[in-house]
Amino acid sequence: MDRMREGLEGVQGQRVGERAWRQAQLKVSHGGTGLLAQNALVAAAYLGCMCMCMRVMKQRAHMQGFTQGVGTGGQLPMQLALEGAHECLASLYRDSEEPGEREVIVELTDLDTAHKHAQKEFTSKVSRSQRLEVLREAEDEQAVARLLSASGYAAGMWLQGNLTDRSMRMSGQVFMVAMKLRLGMACGLVCPHQSCAVCGEMVDAQGWHHLTCSGAQLIARHDRFVAQLASMMRAAVGRGKVHVEMVGTLEEGAGSKRMDIVVDSGDGGEMTQIDAAVCTPMASSYLQAAQEAGGAAALRQSSKHSKYDRYVPEGSTFIAAVVEAVGAWGSEMQEWWQAVLGTLAAEAQEAGEMGDSAASQFANSWLPRLAVGLQRGNALAIIHRCRRDRVAMGKSSGERS
Ligand SMILES: [Zn+2]
Repeated sequence: MDRMREGLEGVQGQRVGERAWRQAQLKVSHGGTGLLAQNALVAAAYLGCMCMCMRVMKQRAHMQGFTQGVGTGGQLPMQLALEGAHECLASLYRDSEEPGEREVIVELTDLDTAHKHAQKEFTSKVSRSQRLEVLREAEDEQAVARLLSASGYAAGMWLQGNLTDRSMRMSGQVFMVAMKLRLGMACGLVCPHQSCAVCGEMVDAQGWHHLTCSGAQLIARHDRFVAQLASMMRAAVGRGKVHVEMVGTLEEGAGSKRMDIVVDSGDGGEMTQIDAAVCTPMASSYLQAAQEAGGAAALRQSSKHSKYDRYVPEGSTFIAAVVEAVGAWGSEMQEWWQAVLGTLAAEAQEAGEMGDSAASQFANSWLPRLAVGLQRGNALAIIHRCRRDRVAMGKSSGERS
């Protein structure tokens, strides 16, 4: 694991602190980077494997002598290792507050009665416990907001893209900024304790301020996000049915509000009006809501509804497509996405293809692409603002001298 940590430090160009390293060792879906702590999983994997073996052995009674040794004071060499692994797992389940979870672990003498997928169950129990521990030990509310968002729906998909696909490649700097945003590390570009050139507020070392303060780069991130959503919808429902409005061309008048994307099925059926946004859970305006998973996105969703619901024409559905800057999708965006996948699956089935595999192929292709696009937008926003701040600082120090 030390080698892996060194590798991560090499990529980041700086030391990875203890907290960040513990997060990095979580599964990607739990907010980590998938550099799993194998030593922690070994006991669970071993016990799960023994459960499967025992079942087969008992079924073939000729191994009876072997199985009788287990858990009954037998002297087999594996006995101690097995007892250790069992004690380790049992203590995790003993502390569990999840209903029904404690029944998953069986007595050492009854290993053959364990769940069919015991190995997977045990290892994922260890992973879940590790995630809870990292959350419990979070240093402040901003860390909680970030960790919850990092493990939200689709948040880590930029780490799971197909690297042979050019559209999913990230430059070294973009990758580094995205990784540091995820792990809560100083981004190494911002001079902290310095006031923002736009709003005068103090900026933080992580670059979070640059993801919330108004500026051209955030509009660019929004427009890029909208363009990608529109491409995804075109791929899903057909080119001619998706209309896109960029922020620069929005007309907001007394009785109108043009949405970012309008999907018109063209057959006189329901239209879908989509307005997209990216919010930062660590920003002060979202921090309280972000102490619950998806809270920041939910807050932004409801503010969009209270602003725009009255402009939505009859027979149209309005969707507030909100994602959090760390990557988690808001609930409405997730529901919309599931509906898109459902339609695709149904259409494929009608055409005599495998519906589920068509939908999962679409998801595997678009989820990483959207996630990479978002992280690229974040990184460019931070990089450009820092560059501008440095130029401004150079000028002001030049004036002084
Ligand atoms: Zn600012």
